[in-house]
Amino acid sequence: MSQPRIVIVGGGAGGIELATRLGRSLGRRGKADITLVDRNPMHIWKPLLHEVAVGAIDTDIDQVSYLSHSHANGYRFQLGSLDSLDREGRRIGLAPIHDNDGELILPERHVDYDYLVLALGSISNDFGTPGVRDNCFMLDSPQQAEKFRQEMLNTFLRKISNASGKEDEELSVAIVGAGATGVELSAELFSAMDMLSSYNGHDFPRSRLRVHIIEAAPRILPALGERISENVYRQLEALGVKIHTNTMVSSADENGFVTAEGERVDADLMVWAAGVKGPEILSKLGLSTRPNNQINVEQSLVSVDDPRIFAIGDCAACPQPGDKLVPPRAQSAHQMASQLVKNLKNAMAGKELAPYVYKDMGSLVSLSHFQTFGSLMNGRSLRGLFVEGWVAKLSYTSLYRMHQLAIYGWPRTVAKVIVDRLNRWLRPKLKLH
Ligand SMILES: Cc1cc2nc3c(=O)[nH]c(=O)nc-3n(C[C@H](O)[C@H](O)[C@H](O)COP(=O)(O)OP(=O)(O)OC[C@H]3O[C@@H](n4cnc5c(N)ncnc54)[C@H](O)[C@@H]3O)c2cc1C
Repeated sequence: MSQPRIVIVGGGAGGIELATRLGRSLGRRGKADITLVDRNPMHIWKPLLHEVAVGAIDTDIDQVSYLSHSHANGYRFQLGSLDSLDREGRRIGLAPIHDNDGELILPERHVDYDYLVLALGSISNDFGTPGVRDNCFMLDSPQQAEKFRQEMLNTFLRKISNASGKEDEELSVAIVGAGATGVELSAELFSAMDMLSSYNGHDFPRSRLRVHIIEAAPRILPALGERISENVYRQLEALGVKIHTNTMVSSADENGFVTAEGERVDADLMVWAAGVKGPEILSKLGLSTRPNNQINVEQSLVSVDDPRIFAIGDCAACPQPGDKLVPPRAQSAHQMASQLVKNLKNAMAGKELAPYVYKDMGSLVSLSHFQTFGSLMNGRSLRGLFVEGWVAKLSYTSLYRMHQLAIYGWPRTVAKVIVDRLNRWLRPKLKLH
């Protein structure tokens, strides 16, 4: 009998963990044929993107090649972007790939499956706000984070060389959205600016960086507890961040944002981090989706339309008791991947699927090297234990270490931690090229 073919589309926080675990447990033993499809050749864990955006992390070191990883872990890798789904024929279509000059590298292709897992993540939701797509950076992919970094360095160079002729000109950044991404990015900007300034003889002090955070809700980090929110607010204010709460953005242009009250927040660099939605392609596959393009799945992660299709991570609308949905977070993607390993094995054995129950392990917010705050869940209390300082930092880092453990195993993860420490000593603290 031929091996069942499991195709996973999207090798992000959830997808690469799933492919690794299935590859090791089924692929290597010839029990299933596992294929991972991603539009990028390299994987980088998405919660690192704000650090990539300021150059605090060098993607050349922290990313993983899908091709070599797949070879070592018992699955195959196909480079390509999901373009279509033929449920009757059980095959997906991948868009053609062109090089930078428009030359065709790979034509349109098809991949056949017996079980399909959609793990395409999410993209920033601009809620149709005019001018946002054309004028703002969004931290949706390593390419976008890298683009922001280049633009930040170029703007910094212009400012320190006093290209405009103005004395003490400020470098201004406006970020829409005071969720974890916006808040963490603002702190990373101050850290990067301190570093850049020190490399340049301290002639661009922190006071010349102006960061605005614009948030429609009455407080920053509206999804997290009030104590975390208040502490982060105080720390950001101390750094010099100008926080505009209760402020809706109605449009953006090349010079800044316009608020619903008609006020302007002008900036050299503009970032939109005000919520997420599923990639557009998800609404075109013929599967039932929510208005934000998330795929409707049962609690077992199987699509409500098709017993051979599953979805995990940010792109899945997975119901939980009490009419709630699983939040779009790296820890959810990690947990869903573990659950789906079991459920795919159940599905292949003709057994019943088990429901996925989200376990909130807590929320942590890292303000670069300045401070970390968060709450850790102890399993009994719904409020969580407030933490800060090194305990919070350690817990924050442990989420990434868990991801590394899932994709590398213990010996390599330990080696990675050592190499990270050495690199911190050997390499510049900021990526400057
Ligand atoms: C700056 C930032 C900081 C964050 N910090 C945290 C945090 O501290 N804690 C936390 O829990 N969460 C955090 N998140 C959220 C977290 O990153 C996501 O919830 C998580 O990555 C979702 O995992 P995923 O597997 O669903 O999708 P992703 O990790 O986004 O992966 C999706 C994958 O699908 C691929 N893909 C997309 N479209 C296609 C296509 N058409 N064809 C083929 N491949 C495709 C992409 O290339 C990508 O590899 C943060 C997010 C950002 C942006």
